[in-house]
Formats: sequence, structure tokens, C-alpha cells
Amino acid sequence: MTFKDFNFKEQLQKSIEEAGFKEPSPIQIEAIPYILDGKDLVGQAHTGTGKTAAFGLPILNKLSGKNAEALIIVPTRELAMQVSDELYRFGKFLNLNTATVYGGQSYTRQLKLIENASVIVATPGRFLDLLRNEQIKVKPKFVILDEADEMLDMGFLDDIKEIFTYLPKERQTLLFSATMPVAIKNLAKTILNEPEFITITKADMTNSNITQTFYVVDERERDDALIRLFDYKNPKKSIIFCRTKKDVDRLSTFLVSQGFMAKALHGDMEQKQREEAIRAFKSSKLEILIATDVAARGLDVNDVTHVFNYHLPFDSESYVHRIGRTGRAGKDGVAVSIVTPHEFKTLQRIEKSIGTKLESKVVPNISTVKQ
Ligand code: ADP
Ligand code: MG
Repeated sequence: MTFKDFNFKEQLQKSIEEAGFKEPSPIQIEAIPYILDGKDLVGQAHTGTGKTAAFGLPILNKLSGKNAEALIIVPTRELAMQVSDELYRFGKFLNLNTATVYGGQSYTRQLKLIENASVIVATPGRFLDLLRNEQIKVKPKFVILDEADEMLDMGFLDDIKEIFTYLPKERQTLLFSATMPVAIKNLAKTILNEPEFITITKADMTNSNITQTFYVVDERERDDALIRLFDYKNPKKSIIFCRTKKDVDRLSTFLVSQGFMAKALHGDMEQKQREEAIRAFKSSKLEILIATDVAARGLDVNDVTHVFNYHLPFDSESYVHRIGRTGRAGKDGVAVSIVTPHEFKTLQRIEKSIGTKLESKVVPNISTVKQ
């Protein structure tokens, strides 16, 4: 199967080739024909499996010009920018404009952008603001909810429902999500019209290329173990997950004091600082990003080599989201968890739910490794 089989417009096919995409991913193979066919669709696939292009390519192929024909709703500003960038990359030969709409930007500027856009990528809060104030009247033919599970986690359910009251009934609606809790299924029932459901199961997932291991330590040994693991594994680009913002701040200060190029990423930081940290990490000026679950969700950095769980997350969905930051776009990835005896129950729960037993290893002793 190649992208040519979808018979996309020539200009779109050209940009796909320019982007270096060789083969469509499983979710793309499944979803694209339905979307081209005009059907409503719920698509579930693990993070990093190419969901953006799964809806982005067929939608771009269908657009005719201006008038904000497509509306894409995403949970965060970072994702809005990311999705916009990806659509811009594919839409450039089609002469399509994208407007990115999120909080904290000037209203006038955003309204101007929307006027000239073929595609709007928006976060729910700001977009609803504009609708409520009757500042915009949009009649999108295509509406996409991207990373729907995250939007619900962030408390956007009511906003999303209200946004739909402003949208035309005649439309094609798509919903994409990494996980499919009941709340999402219910939402899908109310806003989608006889949708197809596509689930890419674990076996098909490109993320089987992630090696998952854990190291058992005592609570007071976490920092020491982390440093040793860094010395031993020498990761090029890694994300370390902690449970709380406080842990993130403390650990980042500690790692910087140990000579690592590390920065924190969490919700209490100013938007500008967060963007700066992400930019530095993407451009490899940083080797380590230390983050909370919420701050790092949906983050698309292609070449993350290692994910470290400084603490295990409480639930398996967060675990899946976390390790999905590595091993993206078919690359190999390593996920390492530091686990205290206190966390054994959590570990078992995660193993059971993901259907994989993690390999237990012993923290290497630096002096032996260096010999
Ligand atoms: P998801 O939304 O499922 O988490 P993304 O859409 O962010 O995943 O895609 C992850 C990365 O994989 C992006 O950098 C994207 O450009 C890349 N990608 C997507 N589809 C393909 C493909 N068919 N071939 C190569 N790279 C791809
Ligand atoms: Mg995505």
C-alpha cells in the first residue's frame, strides 16, 4: 500500500513525497478511504501513529478554497500550532491557508486570520468565546476533534458540546483519540452521525519498537539511580516524567546542577517559557525535558530516544501516553521506569492493562560499566 493508492490531488501527493512519507501508517490506511467517502468516523490509535495525517490528508484533498471549510479542535496551544504546521506542510501546493486560534492572542488578529482561512485549528475555550460573542460565523463542512481524550481530561466536554450547537447539522464529523473511555464513546454518539469505528489494536501498533524495562530502587535512591542510568544509557534526547510539578522543578534544578542540559515543563510555567522549553528541546539545544503528564501530552518530538518514569503514573493510560513520546514514526525507543517496592501494585496494574510484562533490570554500577 502506498499513498498513491488514495488518488489524492497531484499537489497533495507532491507534498507527501516532499515530507518523506513513504508508506501510510495503519490508522491512515484504515481511516483515509472512509473520510474520502464522506463518512463520520471515530479513530483510535496510539500516540505517534500518524493520526494528524490520517484526517489531515483526506480533508485537505476535499477542500475547495476559503470560507473555513474545515474546523479542527485540539486541546492545547502547542497542539494547535503543531497540527497547523503539519497541515501547512501538506497544503502548501494547494494554496490553502490555516488559521490557528487559541487563548492569549489578539482577537483582531485571529478574526482576520479566520476570514482568510480554509482551515481553522482552534482550542475549545477561545473558539467558544468567539462564537458566543458572535464575532465569527463559521459553517464548516468538516469538523475534527483531535486528541479527544485529552480534551476531556482537561475538562473541555461542556465547551465542546456548546461549540457544536453553533455548527451546521450538514457536516462530516471525525473524532480521533489515543484512548477510548466511555465518555468519549458517549460524546461520539451525540455529535457524530452513524460513525464508523476504527481501532488499531496493540499488535498493529508501530510502537512495538519500544523496549520497556524497570529498575527497582528504594525511595531515597531515585536520583542516584537516574544519574547512573543516564551514565549507562547515554540517551541523546529524553523526557523524564514526574508525578507533581514540585518534583519536576526539584529534579530539573538537580539535573542542571549535575551538568545536564535539562529544563522543566509543567502547567504552572508561563506560556512563553513552556514554548521556549519545547522549542529548545525540538532543536536539540536541550537533551532532557522533565515534565508532568499534562504538560507533555500530545507533544510531537520525533527523535526522543528515551522516556524515563521517575515515578510511575497511577494509571495505565498515562503510562501508554508517556512511553508513546518515544519510538515515534517507526524509530526505536526505550522506556525506563524507576520503581520502588511501594509502586509494585501500580506496576502490576499497568502490566495487566497493557498486556505486557516489563523486564526487570538492576541499576548498573557506574564503576563496572566504565571499566
Ligand atoms: P498522533 O497524532 O497519532 O500521536 P502524529 O500525527 O503527531 O501522531 O504523527 C507522529 C509523527 O509521525 C509526525 O511527526 C508525523 O509527521 C509522522 N508521520 C505520520 N504519518 C507518517 C507516515 N505515513 N510516514 C512517516 N511519518 C509519518
Ligand atoms: Mg495527534
